[in-house]
Amino acid sequence: IVLLYRKDYHEILSRFGYGSVDITSLRPDQIERVLLSPAEIQRRVAELGQQISTDYAGESLVLVGVLKGITFFLADLARAITRPLAIDYLQLSRDLREGVAIRKDLDLDIRGKHVLLVEDIVNTGLTLDFIMRVLREREPASLEVCALLDKAERRLVSVPVKYVGFTIPNEFVVGYGLDYRELYRNLPFICVLKREVYEANGN
Ligand code: 5GP
Repeated sequence: IVLLYRKDYHEILSRFGYGSVDITSLRPDQIERVLLSPAEIQRRVAELGQQISTDYAGESLVLVGVLKGITFFLADLARAITRPLAIDYLQLSRDLREGVAIRKDLDLDIRGKHVLLVEDIVNTGLTLDFIMRVLREREPASLEVCALLDKAERRLVSVPVKYVGFTIPNEFVVGYGLDYRELYRNLPFICVLKREVYEANGN
């Protein structure tokens, strides 16, 4: 399956409409290569779910997802955890002048709860550091982080990520929830966007 995905991803991109619809000028040739196949992702998510279930034996927890990239990973991870759990979301806004702020806050009160913050990707760590500060102020019983992807070499601030799906190189990735300008989230695999695509747009 891994090989099949590596070989045929152009065809799969086309099947998802990225080959034929050209409203945004995004095309399959903007993808450099597939980094993680659906099978690799699902295997690792199952392992993470088992590990988390063991670590939280006898407890219930609150999974906190950061919208929107987390949609697919959180859905899969939650079903791989065999403990009672609640799910909540927050969303951030990024403004060049004002920095990071909360756009949509949690609905639940997390005081005294075991909170597992679920992130799609940790890069510099600045986003995670901001969220951790906000959540810690609310005095949860515990606060840990599970990140699907870790670009460890890009880290600027140290953040305690207890559960890491995959450590990846410093390249821009899309798929399985991760976007480039809101597209590519629905790809079932994670792939690398060609450097010239995002650099051309100043990202
Ligand atoms: P940090 O604050 O750790 O530098 O950045 C974390 C955020 O940047 C992630 O939550 C994600 O929104 C975005 N990000 C960082 N690297 C990538 C990437 O390779 N692909 C995508 N789609 N988003 C990324």
